[in-house]
Amino acid sequence: MAGKKLCKVCGVPLRVTKEHEWLSNGTIVQRENREHRMVFIETENLAATFSGVEEIIGRSIERIIIEAKRRATFDFVDHMLPAAVKKILRVVGMRPAVKSISALGSVMGFGDIQLVRVHRAQLLLHDYVIMKIKEPYSIALFCGDVAGTFNAVNQREVAVTYKQESTVQYEVTGRISTHPLGLQDRLQAKVYADKEGDVKWQPCAECGGPMELSEYQWHVDRGIIESREHPRRMALVGPASLDAVIEELESELGDSIPQVVIEAQRRFIRTGFYTLEEIASEELFRKQLAIRGLGNVREVEWGEGSMRFRMENQCLHLVIVGLVLGFFELAFGREGVVQWEVTDGGDLVVEVALKEGS
Ligand SMILES: [Zn+2]
Repeated sequence: MAGKKLCKVCGVPLRVTKEHEWLSNGTIVQRENREHRMVFIETENLAATFSGVEEIIGRSIERIIIEAKRRATFDFVDHMLPAAVKKILRVVGMRPAVKSISALGSVMGFGDIQLVRVHRAQLLLHDYVIMKIKEPYSIALFCGDVAGTFNAVNQREVAVTYKQESTVQYEVTGRISTHPLGLQDRLQAKVYADKEGDVKWQPCAECGGPMELSEYQWHVDRGIIESREHPRRMALVGPASLDAVIEELESELGDSIPQVVIEAQRRFIRTGFYTLEEIASEELFRKQLAIRGLGNVREVEWGEGSMRFRMENQCLHLVIVGLVLGFFELAFGREGVVQWEVTDGGDLVVEVALKEGS
């Protein structure tokens, strides 16, 4: 395993570019499992989207985030780990499972994850595992990661709780119940479009990953990825698990959720977290979204007080709609009205026009 070693040329951990490929069609995929997409996204954006949704609907969504992430992680790990490995892990205990979460977390930008204690219970009592995480990418998503991984390894019910110990540190406890895991209603496997593209990456001479990633600095000991230019922190996350959070919100809280997610993202973009210079040309806009694995921008047409945007291979489409609307409003300094659709071919088309009287 490439471990935590950084590429001498681009500075990206070798494990990241060995296990993931930035394709020319605006997507990031796992090399071993090419249907499994990833996004490289700002943790500030994730946090602002979650808190923006909470602010608009007036209630906490933490439980929903943890549960959706748990199911997505369970699906993924359960599918990925051979039965024999699960059996071994059950016998040797959770230590190796936590070690692997910790090693992965250090290169994916999840934070610094340390195992504190594994308690193996006597008959009829719960096993439990205590971890500490410093500077988590999202404490709710991390709790979901832990619950889903433990579910998959043990095939038992798991309860995860956390306690904040300081501004940056949390203690996370996973209790593995004696109850076998009930039949899981599997997530609908999210099928993302996979059209050809012509985004050109400049390959790193050493590891082959896109040199464009050298804009980011990996602090593997802290599990942190930062932009060198802007005060931003990144993480590599599966979009299917984030889409699962949005779907779970929709099924629990109703049809207004798409509008709420768009609005939360619009508000975030309006804060000026990203700058208009970063998307000054269609080519720049396309590269910015492609390095994040969000899809392939095919059209950005600015009219008089209007804009049309089309993207292939989209994921997290509601977030993208909010992002386009937010940028439109930043550019015009006025409010916009947005219309969007996902076409039969899976493209996302967004049209924004100036709001009358805004
Ligand atoms: Zn490299």
